[in-house]
Amino acid sequence: MAEKSAAHVIIMGPQGAGKGTQAALIAPRLHLEHISTGDLFREVMAGDSELGQEIRSYVDRGALVPDALTIRMLMDHVDHVLGGESEMRGMLLDGFPRNQAQAEALDLALRERGDRLVSVVHVDVPRERLMERLTGRLVCPNCGATYHRGFNPPKVEGVCDVCGSSLIQRSDDTPEAVERRLSIYYEQTAPVLDYYRAKGLLLDVDGDRPIVDVSERIVEALLPKFDVD
Ligand SMILES: [Zn+2]
Repeated sequence: MAEKSAAHVIIMGPQGAGKGTQAALIAPRLHLEHISTGDLFREVMAGDSELGQEIRSYVDRGALVPDALTIRMLMDHVDHVLGGESEMRGMLLDGFPRNQAQAEALDLALRERGDRLVSVVHVDVPRERLMERLTGRLVCPNCGATYHRGFNPPKVEGVCDVCGSSLIQRSDDTPEAVERRLSIYYEQTAPVLDYYRAKGLLLDVDGDRPIVDVSERIVEALLPKFDVD
């Protein structure tokens, strides 16, 4: 079984920008396999492969998984999903790279495979809108139902529609906690975005629009980029 060279896309965006939703919508239309690094880690660690054991040895002692190991996991997965009769063009990578060193290491690994990075999609939403989206979440501590003060409010304020319990705001969703998470995100990813922008690979997308408009915009921009070869 010969290895095919592949064409990949990376998707980036802050929490609350709808990156996951967009990834799920665009991946099938572009014939890409959506790979969330977080999900893949969990899957590999749950298995009994040598790689899974190696990754677990870091996670179990609370250490960071080395980038080289993460990249090996990704490339193994690419071999797996693109092998045989697969009609996939490549992966839609979500959750990696998170810093410039990782971006450079990924570049090298893709070059070694003879693969191409087609584009880096950056779904962004103005910070104050993200705050609004993320701090409005309410959850029911009893049945787990979720609501949003602005977009999906319960019928009676503060009360769960399903079971009648009092709704709470999780400590992760307070303005201070959200502000902190967003600051970390922007600090870490700004250099990564600059790195890809300098290579002419960055596609900035306004995520503060209806979901379908956003995905159409991404698909329209990306399709011609696959046709060059
Ligand atoms: Zn409830």
